[in-house]
Amino acid sequence: SMFKSGFLAEVYRENPIGSPGVDRVVTRFPPEPNGFLHLGHSKAIAINFGFARHHGGVCYLRYDDTNPAKEEEKYFTAIAEIIQWLGFKPVKVTYSSDYFDNLYELAEDLIRRDGAYVCHCSKSEIAQQRGGGKGATPRFTCRHRDRPSDESLAEFRAMRDGKYGPQEALLRMKQDMKSSNPQMWDLTAYRVIQPRKPDNKESPDFEEDTDSKAGIHYRTGDKWKIYPTYDFTHCLVDSFEGITHSLCTTEFELSRTSYNWLCDTLGVYRPMQREYGRLNLSSTVLSKRKIMDLISNGHVRDWDDPRLYTLIALRRRGVPPGAILSFVSLLGASKATTTIEVKQFEQCVRQYLEFTVPRLMVVLDPIPVIIDNLPEDYLEMVELPFSKDPQFGSHRVPFTRTIYIDRADFRETPSKDFFRLTPDKSVGLLKVPFPITATSFEKDPNSGLVTSINARYDIPEEGSKFKKPKAYIHWISDCPSLNSPIKASARVHNPLFTCSNPDSHPAGFLAVVNPNSEEIFPNAMIEIGLHEIKRRAPWPKSDGEEKPEGSHVSPECVRFQGMRVAYFCLDRDSSDESVVLNRIVSLKEDAKK
Ligand code: ATP
Ligand code: MG
Ligand code: MG
Repeated sequence: SMFKSGFLAEVYRENPIGSPGVDRVVTRFPPEPNGFLHLGHSKAIAINFGFARHHGGVCYLRYDDTNPAKEEEKYFTAIAEIIQWLGFKPVKVTYSSDYFDNLYELAEDLIRRDGAYVCHCSKSEIAQQRGGGKGATPRFTCRHRDRPSDESLAEFRAMRDGKYGPQEALLRMKQDMKSSNPQMWDLTAYRVIQPRKPDNKESPDFEEDTDSKAGIHYRTGDKWKIYPTYDFTHCLVDSFEGITHSLCTTEFELSRTSYNWLCDTLGVYRPMQREYGRLNLSSTVLSKRKIMDLISNGHVRDWDDPRLYTLIALRRRGVPPGAILSFVSLLGASKATTTIEVKQFEQCVRQYLEFTVPRLMVVLDPIPVIIDNLPEDYLEMVELPFSKDPQFGSHRVPFTRTIYIDRADFRETPSKDFFRLTPDKSVGLLKVPFPITATSFEKDPNSGLVTSINARYDIPEEGSKFKKPKAYIHWISDCPSLNSPIKASARVHNPLFTCSNPDSHPAGFLAVVNPNSEEIFPNAMIEIGLHEIKRRAPWPKSDGEEKPEGSHVSPECVRFQGMRVAYFCLDRDSSDESVVLNRIVSLKEDAKK
């Protein structure tokens, strides 16, 4: 496991149970509720919850809700649900906003300790003080820096009481402008954020705004006109909550200095911050704004569209939470940023599904085959194991005179390298005792597509030897009395982008959207074993989505391998009357189907 050795084991060894302030391990997962979590976040979730679990400690889910202009209620719910889906349970759900009073008190305290001042400079003036971007010019201190702390205190209270608009006043920490670390250049601790009016787009605090309707805080309403920044909030809330190991991504490495500075300057308990590498994905986009563009341009339907890599999309697509966790654990945790091709992730999902979900026969694009030498009312029940693993058990499916096979398994003209069904050649039907040979076929004169095939069942003559066919294909019986087949619409998802770097493509990511990212097979068929697989769902059994007795199982937990076709699950759009399938992954990398 990634906690037993390597980077995270070292992090623990630096600050084990028994060290000052460490009675037990306490971690937190601190998402900002301003969007849906994506595959990258699952690494942060696995690390924070997993680290605590591994050391017998606890992990908080903390909503870092300090910017009402960007946060919305729907994200709070979605985040909590997806963490539970991944199999983790926060010991407690907390909110940075729960501590607004404490944070405010400490801000006043910091001013009294001469550790902060109210500044009225503009954004560009502050940038100048910091060396005009990339340290091009010498840094200098702000003219408000040396004002008496009484004056700053009065001004800070005026900020609180609504005297200033956004960007007219800031509380800045009095750090070290001479430091080589930009995180010490008098960072902002508090800024004014006013409720957003729908037309108030000029305000600098709203330029990043996504789809929120108002800047009224979801939990504190209009109580506050000033809000603490990440740099002021994060370390102090970690401190209040007694976090022992504050694990974050490496872009916060330089922030460690300001984190320690603030805790030490205020004389409060200082947790240990350590940084691990982000998990990035190529061949897709994860940024909120880009996903929103994909939705508004109709390239995907919504945030949970199975072609996306948000966690709600992966869930809907049928990826089991256990596959995501094993992927993260396989990559391990280190300080290095890892960039993974979505293909590599899919390979991991495929390997996970191979031994954990049952098998069924699914025909995506059916052609009827009439086996002329079987009687009209022929019915043989054929035993089909659910898996190579006998523990999965087996089920029985009807074999009758008319069956359906996949269009891809038939060719009008024989060729040396094609061992499936063609005229005058025989092919095996999975688990059916004897092969069939095609005798003739019919075509639609307009479309040129084959509409039906006639065949012969090759029961060997008495005394002659049975010749094993070169290939076996899947099939589904036309047997109305047993309600076979089950009709379905199957959604087969292909990569959303035609190149591996949509994020940085010179033509822009919208120019490289794959026009064929979703293929629909409206006439797909599933054999009747689906009923038992639904009854026995979730598959696999062993992750966080255990079925409580008698309760409803989410459709995506009904997962199976369509033999020779792909892995599928039921989509949420399924109902009692109609079945909608999502392809989770193909059976092999680069398979066309
Ligand atoms: P994004 O910009 O992708 O939404 P974020 O950092 O703004 O990412 P947060 O809501 O702040 O998102 O993330 C919560 C936690 O998840 C943070 O601790 C953050 O460091 C971590 N995290 C975010 N993205 C990744 C990633 N790609 N890999 C690993 N951890 C991540
Ligand atoms: Mg974010
Ligand atoms: Mg963030």
